[in-house]
Amino acid sequence: MPEKLIIELSKEGRKGYSLPELDVERKGELPEKLLRKTPPELPEVSENEVVRHFVRLSGMNYNVDRGFYPLGSCTMKYNPKINEKLARLEGFLNIHPLQPASTVQGALKLMKTLENLLARISGFDAISLQPAAGAHGELTSMMIVRRYHEKQGNPRKYVLIPDSAHGTNPASVTISGYIAKQIKSNEYGRVDLEDLKANLSEEVAAFMVTNPNTLGLFETDIIEISKMVHDVGGLMYMDGANLNALVGYIRPGDLGFDVMHFNLHKTFSTPHGGGGPGSGPVGVKKFLEPFLPVPRVVEKDGKFELSYDFPDSIGKVHFFYGNFNVFIRALTYILMMGEEGLKKVAENAVINANYLKTLLEKEYTLPYGGFCMHEFVLSGKFLRKYRVKTLDVAKRLLDYGFHAPTIYFPLIVSEALMIEPTETESRETLDKFAETLVKIKKEAMENPDLLHSAPHNTPVRRLNEAKAARELKVRW
Ligand SMILES: *Cc1c(COP(=O)(O)O)cnc(C)c1O
Repeated sequence: MPEKLIIELSKEGRKGYSLPELDVERKGELPEKLLRKTPPELPEVSENEVVRHFVRLSGMNYNVDRGFYPLGSCTMKYNPKINEKLARLEGFLNIHPLQPASTVQGALKLMKTLENLLARISGFDAISLQPAAGAHGELTSMMIVRRYHEKQGNPRKYVLIPDSAHGTNPASVTISGYIAKQIKSNEYGRVDLEDLKANLSEEVAAFMVTNPNTLGLFETDIIEISKMVHDVGGLMYMDGANLNALVGYIRPGDLGFDVMHFNLHKTFSTPHGGGGPGSGPVGVKKFLEPFLPVPRVVEKDGKFELSYDFPDSIGKVHFFYGNFNVFIRALTYILMMGEEGLKKVAENAVINANYLKTLLEKEYTLPYGGFCMHEFVLSGKFLRKYRVKTLDVAKRLLDYGFHAPTIYFPLIVSEALMIEPTETESRETLDKFAETLVKIKKEAMENPDLLHSAPHNTPVRRLNEAKAARELKVRW
């Protein structure tokens, strides 16, 4: 049964609260001119109707607390409940961003501690926690790159990006006023050094690389690439969305990168993708520190302050100081894991991905072979002869209780299925997922209509996704 909208559940006169009659004199009411003439059009429903409505809705939403969520590139790892418990501590929950710094010393200390730990993990000298997500961190970084080059006398023109990059990369580059230039991948799925060389010039502001890249492959030439880019005066930018494959083992700052963004909501387990806001801190080497967004948390005589005294800063990129609640969760996670624990994160993320890849590479096609890092990309192109697309496979997976992997990305793999198991899944879950994909492949060959009409067991059947995006209907 489709769930009605809450406004459709409304019955005139129903109330969701019950308060006793006022037995003291009325005082301090709002002046007449501030009161509305007509009551707002709110649904009139009882408390239990509200609760049941939202509990039913919550059950329709697929989430990582419910099942396996192998959405490649997104790192949908389990978010430990201790993170939630600490984020709900009274002292964090009830503070206001406009409170004087002297009354929120604990919160400022938490931010400074997180900055210091991120610096230590990544090998950068200074961190800004302000950006609200990975894409926002990219844009912030590109603004820093521009400010740096302007200071050198020429902002330059181009930012180079591999053709396997995430769509947010060229978008951030364009918004920051640069022209994005695409660099080819070679037959091993890595940056083609010849093509890079051909595109490098003194007009290149930066090279923006994801490492490991979106095929789940480590850029083995990264040190040489850094040298080539630095030789023309360009900066090295790392899209750090895939840091969970390296954390504890490799520090991007040691690979020649000058600036990077983190996705706290990916690497450090905080919920995202409808489950909560993200956070995309930026890390820089010392020479770029003056350009970081303000305000910055500074420590003076054992006290923490928010300082705007950075004249070369790019300014503010978010209201107040960023998504503070995500900082609490990420710090909790980092401290709980410790140095050894974080190493295990990377280890197990890579082991799980390689295990799953081994189970599936003979069943589907693996266009770029070899060991992978934390994710891998299969192709479902061979199913075309049965009139089945990767989209159909993804929809059929929903019938078996799994979230679909990322599909049709990266763009350099046709009919791509991008799978990231993350380190928080058991071997049993991985086996079951692989078995299911094999079963779906058989179904595709024997009964393709079953896939064309999937999903069958979800609250809504197959939607017209283009229409849903283009003709958005948000009003009742
Ligand atoms: C997720 C992701 C981004 C964007 O991060 P958001 O936090 O979703 O804005 C950028 N690049 C890569 C490789 C990603 O996986």
